[in-house]
Amino acid sequence: MEWTPGGVSNDVEDRRDDSGGGGFSGFGLPHFSIGGILLLGILSLIFHRNLFTLFMGGGSVADRPAVTSGRAPSASEGTQVQFVSFVLDDVQATWQNLLPAQSNRQYRHAKLVLFRDSIDSACGHAQSATGPFYCPDDEKVYLDLGFFRQLKDQFGAPGEFAQAYVIAHEIGHHVQKLLGIEGKVQRMRQSNPSEANPLSVRLELQADCFAGVWANSTEQRKIIDQSDVEAGLRAAAAVGDDRLQKMATGHVSPETFTHGSSRQRTQWFQAGLNSGQISACNTFAAGAR
Ligand SMILES: [Zn+2]
Repeated sequence: MEWTPGGVSNDVEDRRDDSGGGGFSGFGLPHFSIGGILLLGILSLIFHRNLFTLFMGGGSVADRPAVTSGRAPSASEGTQVQFVSFVLDDVQATWQNLLPAQSNRQYRHAKLVLFRDSIDSACGHAQSATGPFYCPDDEKVYLDLGFFRQLKDQFGAPGEFAQAYVIAHEIGHHVQKLLGIEGKVQRMRQSNPSEANPLSVRLELQADCFAGVWANSTEQRKIIDQSDVEAGLRAAAAVGDDRLQKMATGHVSPETFTHGSSRQRTQWFQAGLNSGQISACNTFAAGAR
């Protein structure tokens, strides 16, 4: 992928330091839980030394990472944040053009929240293990950068475009909200619970297709080439439910799919990529899928 590091996007909310903690970030103690503070207090009494000063800035820079249990942002994460920023801005600028042109609606920017381990969103509390997600209630995408490592190591989808694909898919869910599709599906699921799962699959496949629509525009602008596209298709396949399920349980049961099979995901990503049109992404049409 052709991209140049250009700082952190205005739409990125970096909450990597306050997730999973006790909400001390406003008081300059971002890395300590209540238990940790009590422990420091007790140790200070035992050693007759104020250990707080040691850990809160009196210590050298070098000993801080050990204290913060690996929470200090590494250099590679810095590059990753810039990459996420580049992709996020590119995806949103693309939709800013496409949405009014193709659907007569204005695009409204979503935010992307970076977190670590766990986070509170308007959609509830989430763990990193659930993977990246979009919350329609606060219009934010939630991402733990650790997922990209997982994508490479566990799902066999390395490469920048695989990561870009994940962000484009989540913004695809935001586009669904702006188009009123998400709300409609929500109501349909409530009135017809037995259809809830197939409806979720169609929603997911459409987000893949929307990721493809963005990829189409990047292809035209020569940001991506054929090898990136192949990496994207591999990523789509890698995070298909059949593959995830097989890895987790050793077998596949289609009735519990919520994202769609690897083949379906690849197919819909390709449909968006080939056409560059929202209209090519009607995964809800009779006979689609
Ligand atoms: Zn999704």
